[in-house]
Amino acid sequence: MNSRPYTLLVVDDSQSTLPRLARALGPEDFALRLTAYGPEVSRLAREVSLVVLCPGEDPAGMLALLDKLAPPDGSQGTPVLVLAPQEPRSTWLAALNRDAEVMFDPWEPDELVARVRRCLSRQARLEALASQVGELQRLSSTDGLTGVHNHRHFQERLREEFRRAQRYDDALSLILLDLDHFKDVNDRYGHSAGDGVLREVAAALQRGVRETDLVARYGGEEFAVLLPRTHLAGALTVAERVRRELRALRLGSDSTLTVTASLGLSSFPHRTVLSPEQLLLTADEALYRAKHEGRDRICLHTQVPPFPPPSSTGG
Ligand code: GH3
Ligand code: MG
Ligand code: MG
Repeated sequence: MNSRPYTLLVVDDSQSTLPRLARALGPEDFALRLTAYGPEVSRLAREVSLVVLCPGEDPAGMLALLDKLAPPDGSQGTPVLVLAPQEPRSTWLAALNRDAEVMFDPWEPDELVARVRRCLSRQARLEALASQVGELQRLSSTDGLTGVHNHRHFQERLREEFRRAQRYDDALSLILLDLDHFKDVNDRYGHSAGDGVLREVAAALQRGVRETDLVARYGGEEFAVLLPRTHLAGALTVAERVRRELRALRLGSDSTLTVTASLGLSSFPHRTVLSPEQLLLTADEALYRAKHEGRDRICLHTQVPPFPPPSSTGG
Protein backbone atom coordinates (compact mmCIF):
# COMPACT_ATOMS: atom_id res chain seq x y z
CA MET A 1 0.00 0.00 0.00
CA ASN A 2 1.21 3.48 -0.81
CA SER A 3 1.88 5.41 2.41
CA ARG A 4 2.59 8.68 0.63
CA PRO A 5 -0.37 11.02 0.99
CA TYR A 6 -0.23 12.53 -2.49
CA THR A 7 -0.10 10.77 -5.84
CA LEU A 8 0.82 12.81 -8.91
CA LEU A 9 -0.09 11.66 -12.40
CA VAL A 10 2.68 12.54 -14.86
CA VAL A 11 1.44 12.69 -18.45
CA ASP A 12 4.39 12.39 -20.78
CA ASP A 13 4.77 10.89 -24.24
CA SER A 14 8.53 10.74 -24.37
CA GLN A 15 9.04 9.62 -20.76
CA SER A 16 12.12 11.84 -20.81
CA THR A 17 10.91 14.16 -18.06
CA LEU A 18 10.03 11.45 -15.56
CA PRO A 19 13.55 10.76 -14.24
CA ARG A 20 14.03 14.50 -13.53
CA LEU A 21 10.60 14.72 -11.89
CA ALA A 22 11.36 11.66 -9.81
CA ARG A 23 14.65 13.18 -8.64
CA ALA A 24 12.96 16.48 -7.77
CA LEU A 25 9.82 15.12 -6.14
CA GLY A 26 11.03 11.74 -4.92
CA PRO A 27 12.41 12.99 -1.60
CA GLU A 28 9.08 14.71 -0.94
CA ASP A 29 5.80 13.09 0.11
CA PHE A 30 4.70 12.35 -3.44
CA ALA A 31 4.16 9.12 -5.33
CA LEU A 32 4.40 9.39 -9.12
CA ARG A 33 2.34 7.55 -11.71
CA LEU A 34 3.19 7.78 -15.37
CA THR A 35 0.93 7.68 -18.38
CA ALA A 36 1.07 8.84 -22.01
CA TYR A 37 -1.33 11.35 -23.56
CA GLY A 38 -4.49 9.40 -24.35
CA PRO A 39 -8.13 8.81 -23.53
CA GLU A 40 -7.45 7.14 -20.18
CA VAL A 41 -5.91 10.32 -18.67
CA SER A 42 -9.33 11.67 -17.55
CA ARG A 43 -10.12 8.52 -15.58
CA LEU A 44 -6.64 8.31 -14.02
CA ALA A 45 -6.79 12.03 -13.13
CA ARG A 46 -9.76 11.40 -10.84
CA GLU A 47 -7.63 9.00 -8.77
CA VAL A 48 -4.75 11.40 -8.02
CA SER A 49 -4.11 14.70 -6.24
CA LEU A 50 -2.41 16.53 -9.11
CA VAL A 51 -1.84 16.04 -12.84
CA VAL A 52 1.50 17.14 -14.30
CA LEU A 53 1.40 17.65 -18.07
CA CYS A 54 4.83 17.48 -19.71
CA PRO A 55 5.48 19.33 -22.96
CA GLY A 56 4.48 17.17 -25.93
CA GLU A 57 4.58 17.31 -29.69
CA ASP A 58 0.97 18.43 -29.86
CA PRO A 59 0.13 21.61 -27.87
CA ALA A 60 -3.44 21.63 -29.22
CA GLY A 61 -3.94 18.08 -27.92
CA MET A 62 -2.61 19.17 -24.51
CA LEU A 63 -5.11 22.06 -24.40
CA ALA A 64 -7.93 19.75 -25.47
CA LEU A 65 -6.96 17.44 -22.60
CA LEU A 66 -7.08 20.40 -20.17
CA ASP A 67 -10.64 21.08 -21.35
CA LYS A 68 -11.57 17.46 -20.81
CA LEU A 69 -10.13 17.46 -17.28
CA ALA A 70 -12.41 20.36 -16.19
CA PRO A 71 -15.65 18.89 -14.75
CA PRO A 72 -18.63 19.97 -16.90
CA ASP A 73 -20.66 21.07 -13.85
CA GLY A 74 -18.05 23.70 -12.90
CA SER A 75 -17.10 21.80 -9.73
CA GLN A 76 -13.51 21.48 -8.56
CA GLY A 77 -11.60 18.92 -10.62
CA THR A 78 -8.09 17.59 -10.06
CA PRO A 79 -5.63 20.50 -10.33
CA VAL A 80 -3.18 20.52 -13.25
CA LEU A 81 0.41 21.73 -13.46
CA VAL A 82 1.61 22.33 -17.02
CA LEU A 83 5.32 22.22 -17.82
CA ALA A 84 5.61 24.32 -20.98
CA PRO A 85 8.37 25.92 -23.04
CA GLN A 86 8.38 29.71 -22.93
CA GLU A 87 7.77 29.79 -26.69
CA PRO A 88 5.22 29.87 -28.15
CA ARG A 89 3.51 32.06 -25.55
CA SER A 90 0.09 31.08 -26.86
CA THR A 91 0.35 27.55 -25.39
CA TRP A 92 1.09 28.45 -21.78
CA LEU A 93 -1.24 31.47 -21.91
CA ALA A 94 -4.04 29.16 -23.03
CA ALA A 95 -3.16 26.77 -20.18
CA LEU A 96 -3.23 29.65 -17.66
CA ASN A 97 -6.63 30.69 -19.03
CA ARG A 98 -7.84 27.15 -18.34
CA ASP A 99 -6.92 27.61 -14.67
CA ALA A 100 -3.81 25.41 -14.80
CA GLU A 101 -0.62 26.22 -12.91
CA VAL A 102 2.20 26.83 -15.42
CA MET A 103 5.93 26.30 -15.06
CA PHE A 104 8.41 27.07 -17.77
CA ASP A 105 10.55 24.28 -19.07
CA PRO A 106 13.46 23.96 -18.24
CA TRP A 107 12.57 24.20 -14.55
CA GLU A 108 14.48 24.10 -11.27
CA PRO A 109 13.61 21.32 -8.78
CA ASP A 110 13.06 23.63 -5.79
CA GLU A 111 10.60 25.79 -7.75
CA LEU A 112 8.78 22.69 -8.98
CA VAL A 113 8.34 21.44 -5.40
CA ALA A 114 7.07 24.86 -4.30
CA ARG A 115 4.54 25.01 -7.13
CA VAL A 116 3.32 21.46 -6.58
CA ARG A 117 2.82 22.25 -2.91
CA ARG A 118 0.96 25.44 -3.82
CA CYS A 119 -1.39 23.53 -6.15
CA LEU A 120 -2.09 20.94 -3.47
CA SER A 121 -2.74 23.43 -0.67
CA ARG A 122 -5.00 25.56 -2.88
CA GLN A 123 -6.93 22.42 -3.80
CA ALA A 124 -7.26 21.45 -0.12
CA ARG A 125 -8.59 24.93 0.73
CA LEU A 126 -11.11 24.81 -2.13
CA GLU A 127 -12.32 21.36 -1.09
CA ALA A 128 -12.73 22.47 2.53
CA LEU A 129 -14.66 25.52 1.34
CA ALA A 130 -16.91 23.42 -0.92
CA SER A 131 -17.73 21.10 1.97
CA GLN A 132 -18.51 24.08 4.25
CA VAL A 133 -20.80 25.55 1.59
CA GLY A 134 -22.54 22.18 1.28
CA GLU A 135 -23.02 22.00 5.04
CA LEU A 136 -24.35 25.59 5.17
CA GLN A 137 -26.77 24.81 2.34
CA ARG A 138 -28.00 21.78 4.25
CA LEU A 139 -28.40 23.78 7.46
CA SER A 140 -30.21 26.62 5.71
CA SER A 141 -32.87 24.24 4.42
CA THR A 142 -33.25 22.11 7.57
CA ASP A 143 -35.45 22.62 10.61
CA GLY A 144 -33.17 22.73 13.66
CA LEU A 145 -35.50 20.85 16.01
CA THR A 146 -36.76 18.00 13.85
CA GLY A 147 -34.15 17.64 11.10
CA VAL A 148 -36.76 17.67 8.31
CA HIS A 149 -36.87 20.49 5.75
CA ASN A 150 -37.79 23.95 6.98
CA HIS A 151 -40.55 26.31 5.89
CA ARG A 152 -38.34 28.30 3.53
CA HIS A 153 -37.14 25.20 1.69
CA PHE A 154 -40.69 23.87 1.49
CA GLN A 155 -41.90 27.11 -0.11
CA GLU A 156 -39.13 26.93 -2.72
CA ARG A 157 -39.80 23.30 -3.55
CA LEU A 158 -43.57 23.84 -3.65
CA ARG A 159 -43.08 26.45 -6.36
CA GLU A 160 -40.55 24.34 -8.27
CA GLU A 161 -42.69 21.20 -8.14
CA PHE A 162 -45.82 23.13 -9.14
CA ARG A 163 -44.03 24.59 -12.18
CA ARG A 164 -42.78 21.14 -13.12
CA ALA A 165 -46.22 19.54 -12.73
CA GLN A 166 -47.81 22.27 -14.87
CA ARG A 167 -45.18 22.01 -17.58
CA TYR A 168 -45.28 18.21 -17.85
CA ASP A 169 -48.99 17.86 -17.19
CA ASP A 170 -48.20 15.85 -14.11
CA ALA A 171 -49.93 15.41 -10.75
CA LEU A 172 -48.81 17.03 -7.49
CA SER A 173 -50.37 16.57 -4.07
CA LEU A 174 -49.93 18.32 -0.77
CA ILE A 175 -50.77 17.11 2.73
CA LEU A 176 -50.86 19.63 5.57
CA LEU A 177 -50.84 18.02 8.98
CA ASP A 178 -51.47 19.64 12.37
CA LEU A 179 -51.12 17.76 15.65
CA ASP A 180 -54.32 17.73 17.69
CA HIS A 181 -54.46 19.51 21.04
CA PHE A 182 -50.71 19.79 21.13
CA LYS A 183 -50.89 22.57 23.65
CA ASP A 184 -52.19 19.95 26.12
CA VAL A 185 -49.10 17.79 25.49
CA ASN A 186 -46.86 20.71 26.46
CA ASP A 187 -49.05 21.54 29.44
CA ARG A 188 -49.08 17.99 30.76
CA TYR A 189 -45.60 16.73 29.94
CA GLY A 190 -43.56 19.92 29.61
CA HIS A 191 -42.20 21.78 26.62
CA SER A 192 -39.08 19.68 26.18
CA ALA A 193 -41.15 16.46 26.09
CA GLY A 194 -43.26 18.29 23.47
CA ASP A 195 -40.10 18.95 21.49
CA GLY A 196 -39.28 15.25 21.66
CA VAL A 197 -42.74 14.41 20.33
CA LEU A 198 -42.24 16.79 17.39
CA ARG A 199 -38.94 15.05 16.60
CA GLU A 200 -40.56 11.61 16.68
CA VAL A 201 -43.52 12.74 14.60
CA ALA A 202 -41.14 14.18 12.00
CA ALA A 203 -39.17 10.91 11.93
CA ALA A 204 -42.38 8.88 11.55
CA LEU A 205 -43.48 11.12 8.67
CA GLN A 206 -40.14 10.71 6.98
CA ARG A 207 -40.38 6.92 7.34
CA GLY A 208 -43.93 6.91 5.98
CA VAL A 209 -43.24 8.56 2.62
CA ARG A 210 -41.12 7.90 -0.42
CA GLU A 211 -37.67 9.41 -0.88
CA THR A 212 -38.98 11.58 -3.68
CA ASP A 213 -41.61 13.10 -1.36
CA LEU A 214 -40.70 16.12 0.72
CA VAL A 215 -41.43 16.36 4.44
CA ALA A 216 -41.15 19.82 6.02
CA ARG A 217 -41.97 21.44 9.31
CA TYR A 218 -44.45 24.06 8.20
CA GLY A 219 -44.85 25.76 11.57
CA GLY A 220 -44.83 24.94 15.31
CA GLU A 221 -46.71 21.61 15.31
CA GLU A 222 -47.66 21.64 11.66
CA PHE A 223 -45.99 19.61 8.95
CA ALA A 224 -46.29 19.57 5.18
CA VAL A 225 -45.75 16.61 2.87
CA LEU A 226 -45.31 17.39 -0.81
CA LEU A 227 -45.95 14.43 -3.10
CA PRO A 228 -44.68 14.93 -6.67
CA ARG A 229 -46.25 12.81 -9.42
CA THR A 230 -49.02 11.73 -7.05
CA HIS A 231 -52.75 12.03 -7.71
CA LEU A 232 -55.35 12.61 -5.03
CA ALA A 233 -56.12 8.89 -4.58
CA GLY A 234 -52.44 8.02 -4.04
CA ALA A 235 -51.99 10.94 -1.66
CA LEU A 236 -55.03 9.82 0.31
CA THR A 237 -53.44 6.39 0.78
CA VAL A 238 -50.27 8.06 2.08
CA ALA A 239 -52.27 10.39 4.37
CA GLU A 240 -54.24 7.46 5.78
CA ARG A 241 -51.06 5.48 6.46
CA VAL A 242 -49.39 8.49 8.10
CA ARG A 243 -52.43 9.17 10.27
CA ARG A 244 -52.52 5.54 11.44
CA GLU A 245 -48.77 5.45 12.13
CA LEU A 246 -48.86 8.65 14.18
CA ARG A 247 -51.78 7.28 16.18
CA ALA A 248 -49.80 4.09 16.91
CA LEU A 249 -46.76 5.95 18.28
CA ARG A 250 -46.08 5.45 22.00
CA LEU A 251 -43.98 8.38 23.09
CA GLY A 252 -42.46 10.06 26.13
CA SER A 253 -40.17 8.63 28.82
CA ASP A 254 -42.68 5.92 29.83
CA SER A 255 -44.07 5.36 26.31
CA THR A 256 -47.60 6.29 27.30
CA LEU A 257 -47.91 9.55 25.42
CA THR A 258 -50.00 9.33 22.26
CA VAL A 259 -50.82 11.86 19.57
CA THR A 260 -53.33 12.25 16.80
CA ALA A 261 -53.25 14.57 13.83
CA SER A 262 -55.67 16.26 11.47
CA LEU A 263 -54.75 16.27 7.81
CA GLY A 264 -55.81 18.42 4.87
CA LEU A 265 -55.13 17.21 1.37
CA SER A 266 -55.18 18.97 -1.97
CA SER A 267 -54.03 17.98 -5.44
CA PHE A 268 -53.12 19.43 -8.78
CA PRO A 269 -54.64 19.23 -11.37
CA HIS A 270 -57.93 20.62 -10.11
CA ARG A 271 -60.01 23.40 -11.58
CA THR A 272 -59.56 25.59 -8.47
CA VAL A 273 -55.85 24.82 -8.03
CA LEU A 274 -54.08 27.02 -10.53
CA SER A 275 -51.07 28.16 -8.52
CA PRO A 276 -48.83 26.92 -5.69
CA GLU A 277 -50.58 29.41 -3.40
CA GLN A 278 -53.94 27.84 -4.25
CA LEU A 279 -52.60 24.33 -3.59
CA LEU A 280 -51.47 25.51 -0.16
CA LEU A 281 -54.64 27.43 0.57
CA THR A 282 -56.95 24.56 -0.41
CA ALA A 283 -54.94 22.05 1.66
CA ASP A 284 -55.17 24.49 4.58
CA GLU A 285 -58.93 24.83 4.13
CA ALA A 286 -59.24 21.03 4.12
CA LEU A 287 -57.14 20.87 7.29
CA TYR A 288 -59.37 23.46 8.91
CA ARG A 289 -62.38 21.29 8.05
CA ALA A 290 -60.68 18.22 9.53
CA LYS A 291 -60.23 20.15 12.79
CA HIS A 292 -63.76 21.44 12.68
CA GLU A 293 -65.26 18.00 12.03
CA GLY A 294 -63.64 16.51 15.12
CA ARG A 295 -59.84 16.09 14.50
CA ASP A 296 -57.89 12.83 13.97
CA ARG A 297 -59.11 12.64 10.39
CA ILE A 298 -58.34 13.52 6.80
CA CYS A 299 -60.29 16.02 4.71
CA LEU A 300 -59.84 16.48 0.99
CA HIS A 301 -60.09 19.54 -1.17
CA THR A 302 -62.40 18.21 -3.81
CA GLN A 303 -65.98 18.67 -4.82
CA VAL A 304 -66.72 14.95 -5.05
CA PRO A 305 -64.58 12.72 -2.84
CA PRO A 306 -63.19 9.84 -4.93
CA PHE A 307 -63.94 7.23 -2.28
CA PRO A 308 -64.92 7.12 1.40
CA PRO A 309 -66.10 10.64 2.18
CA PRO A 310 -63.76 12.59 4.50
CA SER A 311 -65.84 12.11 7.63
CA SER A 312 -65.71 8.32 7.33
CA THR A 313 -61.90 8.28 7.13
CA GLY A 314 -61.65 9.55 10.71
CA GLY A 315 -61.76 7.45 13.88
P1 GH3 B 1 -55.52 21.97 17.66
O1 GH3 B 1 -56.02 20.60 17.80
O2 GH3 B 1 -56.61 22.96 17.42
O3 GH3 B 1 -54.46 22.09 16.65
O4 GH3 B 1 -54.91 22.34 19.08
P2 GH3 B 1 -53.42 22.72 19.41
O5 GH3 B 1 -53.31 22.80 20.89
O6 GH3 B 1 -52.47 21.82 18.73
O7 GH3 B 1 -53.31 24.09 18.66
P3 GH3 B 1 -52.76 25.49 19.04
O8 GH3 B 1 -52.45 26.15 17.74
O9 GH3 B 1 -53.71 26.17 19.97
O10 GH3 B 1 -51.43 25.22 19.80
C1 GH3 B 1 -50.29 24.76 19.16
C2 GH3 B 1 -49.34 24.33 20.24
O11 GH3 B 1 -48.14 23.84 19.69
C3 GH3 B 1 -49.02 25.46 21.16
C4 GH3 B 1 -47.51 25.48 21.20
O12 GH3 B 1 -47.03 25.57 22.51
C5 GH3 B 1 -47.11 24.17 20.58
N1 GH3 B 1 -45.86 24.30 19.87
C6 GH3 B 1 -45.61 25.00 18.74
N2 GH3 B 1 -44.28 24.90 18.42
C7 GH3 B 1 -43.70 24.13 19.36
C8 GH3 B 1 -42.36 23.68 19.59
O13 GH3 B 1 -41.42 23.97 18.85
N3 GH3 B 1 -42.14 22.90 20.68
C9 GH3 B 1 -43.17 22.54 21.51
N4 GH3 B 1 -42.88 21.76 22.55
N5 GH3 B 1 -44.42 22.97 21.33
C10 GH3 B 1 -44.71 23.74 20.28
MG1 MG C 1 -51.30 24.56 14.66
MG1 MG D 1 -52.44 21.69 16.64
